[in-house]
Amino acid sequence: MKIKFVGAIDGITGSCSWLKHIGSGTQWLVDCGMNQGAQAGLKNERPFVFEPTEITGVILTHAHIDHCGLIPKLYKEGFKGKVYCTEATAEISKIQLKSAVKHLSPKLYSDQDVDSIQWAPFDTDERFNWGKSIALVPNIKITPMRGSHMLGSSAIQLSWKVSESLWTSHTSLDAI
Ligand SMILES: [Zn+2]
Repeated sequence: MKIKFVGAIDGITGSCSWLKHIGSGTQWLVDCGMNQGAQAGLKNERPFVFEPTEITGVILTHAHIDHCGLIPKLYKEGFKGKVYCTEATAEISKIQLKSAVKHLSPKLYSDQDVDSIQWAPFDTDERFNWGKSIALVPNIKITPMRGSHMLGSSAIQLSWKVSESLWTSHTSLDAI
């Protein structure tokens, strides 16, 4: 697994980590947040460093705009996958993103891009339990852990199989 921190590297907003798993040929984002503060407009409008059409799915830790705010841009630029998060995170994110459209440059994204998001709440499944793994694709799974940062937030461990009996993982916290 190759991991690149593409957001929140020169500030504390714009959280986004890009994970590329060679074995399964899948690519994942953990959060896809909006930049805020100085030069935020330019930062939000610049091209993604990854190809949105090649991203398999987004794992969203919580609904703050600096974690979910560029997800509609991802869909606008061809992403076809799902956004995995809690139901509360999906519901709060929808409200925030619709509100954000009213304040953003129309170049960034529209109401229709927000509507095109394919939310995949994992905690509505009757088999869901905090700390229990959920397979996303063969050899890739996530393990959500209850967060306390805001309603719906979770720390999410993404794990991948490195051999028949060995898994390793990357954990994203829900803080900030
Ligand atoms: Zn936050």
